[in-house]
Amino acid sequence: MSVKGPKRCAIIPVMLLALIVGYAGSGVAQNVRKPTPHDVVNPPLCSNNSGETVLFLERNEGRSPVAAGMAVRDASGKPVVFRFNYAATPAEFQRFIDRHECAHHQTGDVDRPHPPRNSADHLMNESISDCIAILRLRDEEGFNRDGFNRVTAVMRSEMTKIGFPEISISSRIRNIDTCFSKYGPPQDFVRGILKQRGLPQE
Ligand SMILES: [Zn+2]
Repeated sequence: MSVKGPKRCAIIPVMLLALIVGYAGSGVAQNVRKPTPHDVVNPPLCSNNSGETVLFLERNEGRSPVAAGMAVRDASGKPVVFRFNYAATPAEFQRFIDRHECAHHQTGDVDRPHPPRNSADHLMNESISDCIAILRLRDEEGFNRDGFNRVTAVMRSEMTKIGFPEISISSRIRNIDTCFSKYGPPQDFVRGILKQRGLPQE
């Protein structure tokens, strides 16, 4: 099997943006309160559409106050999710990022050509991963509307902190709300995506 180049999820540009913002704002750094670290949750079970187990690996280099995830194949070709700075965000949002990144493996995104950043196809992949993440939290972790509200409140504050416009934030949350309110089980949704893409599924 050939090893594909890294596939970066939309959460990564967020991190880069945070670095830029951090650099530009370094003159007032002493006024920025250090975030209180949160306990890091156990990762969920995750396997890709070929049935390979996905490993979750902590990456805490740097001092970014922003938690992020990345779904890739590592140098040896194994499917992994890198968990960056998870202690920077509350448990509910850590759980959401894990499942969002896992979804990029479940739907085969990681092994497909990466669409241009911010293209319609790219945004569609992100919406699909968001959808699978919230469905798993709903059906596997018992998140009710309160849980949904906690996840999206943190999402809103994290996205605001790094400069996303309100329209991006509200449309992302609206998509997640539609999935949470109207869609069936996550495995059915994943199956539908793989079928639509003509990809094999385990
Ligand atoms: Zn993503």
